[in-house]
Amino acid sequence: MDKKFEINIDSICIEGERKKVKNLHLRITATGKVKLSAPLYVSDAEIGKFVTEKLDWLKKHLKTSRTEEFWKFDQGGYVLIFAEPYKIVYNAQKNAVSNGIIFLKTSYDVRETALKAQLKKILKKKTEERLPFWEEKTGLYASSFVIRDMTTRWGTCNVKTRRICINLQLVKKREECLDYILVHELGHIINRFHDKRFYNYMNYNFPDYKRVKKSLGEP
Ligand SMILES: [Zn+2]
Repeated sequence: MDKKFEINIDSICIEGERKKVKNLHLRITATGKVKLSAPLYVSDAEIGKFVTEKLDWLKKHLKTSRTEEFWKFDQGGYVLIFAEPYKIVYNAQKNAVSNGIIFLKTSYDVRETALKAQLKKILKKKTEERLPFWEEKTGLYASSFVIRDMTTRWGTCNVKTRRICINLQLVKKREECLDYILVHELGHIINRFHDKRFYNYMNYNFPDYKRVKKSLGEP
């Protein structure tokens, strides 16, 4: 039994730790991370059962604690694209992005879907540029990638299918954050857990990972 472990359930990532406590305890941190503490000798099966029972509670609280603050794109009519502010112009003739302006055909009231679609395109293009670079550097190859608006994680990697999932929210962060997540998720192809071997891999391929990880406010 590992002292530190990770449980992934319904795209929620739970960081668990066995320590000297009496009961299983699940909590959501201020940054929206889900942490589980468990008594030292409790079995994996018991932990699994506990988490399953708490799943509805967890989903409900994660939703209120996180989704709200994720898309504050309309403040002052600006949105961040790779940490640069872009002005949003509504009712434009076509959807386009140029010179710090994002043009949307839709009106202000229905902006969300249109804006997300534009941002997704931008992040997809950038990922198509960056992923091959990191694949070559690490020698690890994803089978495909997908961009999804997620609330709990910056990225995921399905170890079996080698499919990487990138959080749409990364489009707002500096480009190095996308790089970091790509290297991180590629690393999961050969290292399932965040163990010493995994961090050796990170150090080797992305030596500055600690700083970037911190700036990202890891979900
Ligand atoms: Zn990871």
